[in-house]
Amino acid sequence: MNVRASRFARGEGRRIDVSFEFFPPKDEEMEKILWESIERLKPLAPNFVSVTYGAGGNTRERTHATVKRILSETSLTPAAHLTCVAATRAEVDAIVRNYHDAGVRHIVALRGDSVSGAGAKYAPHPGGYSNAADLVGGIKRISSDFEISVSAYPEKHPDSPTVDADIDMLKAKVDAGASRAITQFFFENDFYFRYLERVRARGIDIPIVPGILPVQNFKAATNFATRAGASVPAWLAERFHGLDNDAATRKLIAAAVAAEQVLDLVDRGVTTFHFYTMNRADLVYAICHLLGLRPATQEVAQ
Ligand code: FAD
Repeated sequence: MNVRASRFARGEGRRIDVSFEFFPPKDEEMEKILWESIERLKPLAPNFVSVTYGAGGNTRERTHATVKRILSETSLTPAAHLTCVAATRAEVDAIVRNYHDAGVRHIVALRGDSVSGAGAKYAPHPGGYSNAADLVGGIKRISSDFEISVSAYPEKHPDSPTVDADIDMLKAKVDAGASRAITQFFFENDFYFRYLERVRARGIDIPIVPGILPVQNFKAATNFATRAGASVPAWLAERFHGLDNDAATRKLIAAAVAAEQVLDLVDRGVTTFHFYTMNRADLVYAICHLLGLRPATQEVAQ
């Protein structure tokens, strides 16, 4: 049996679950792109779709409006990202209550970055939640029926002195009520599996869902990775090398790279994926197709 055949044979009968992450649009044109993407991905029946919260809370209204529109105009389950940045507990609690009143029951709870940007030293807002674990506890106190997802960092968060300190923070978030962790994106699957081993050894048993970033734009992905503490392997740079003026080939390479990554994860037992869509559907749709997902109305090919 060749490698490709064995992949699909091993994946057979296994249910693959996905979720999609979007960011709130800044203007009408971006709003149009976002909603076209949501419409395109919607038939794949994701577990949930999440909407990010801008650095410093500067998208509070836009995140809220996007989440509410998803709730009122689609059958998708939205998850609202929320950070502790630049807000008192009372302000954050008011946002959480507002979401609850609107019918939102899933929050992605994060500390967030300093208002001066990722990399600058983080200081909690006076009177605010001190970190993500504190925020998770606050949300659960408002309503125990919130499902809470949190972040996880296979390559360690840049603020964290050690991987163990990072895992201690994950444990604190789980103890406070988080039931799922979504990882920062990574390009080397071994990082994910090594991290998973350490997380399980620490007694953490919630799903650690790999966050997948299809590389729509290599330069932007590299900048994003530098800020997020994710490494960009030389082989990845090599694959995109020389393609700056060749968008069509870049797209094919991006699809190939992401396909290779997710199929290897499937081979190694992963069945749930979170996609950082960057509000673009094409690549994510293709990768989901490869994973065996089909529009809800269509028969899944055997
Ligand atoms: P935490 O889990 O609280 O902390 C991360 C790590 O940093 C900890 O493990 C801990 O070891 C270390 N640490 C934290 N505080 C300190 C400290 N004071 N001293 C020493 N070490 C410390 N950002 C946004 O602004 N909006 C979003 O919508 C958003 N969505 C995200 C979704 C996902 C799935 C992920 C992975 C990240 C997201 N981020 C978002 C980025 C995130 O806000 C940043 O990575 C931020 O720096 C940390 O937030 P956190 O909740 O991961 O932090």
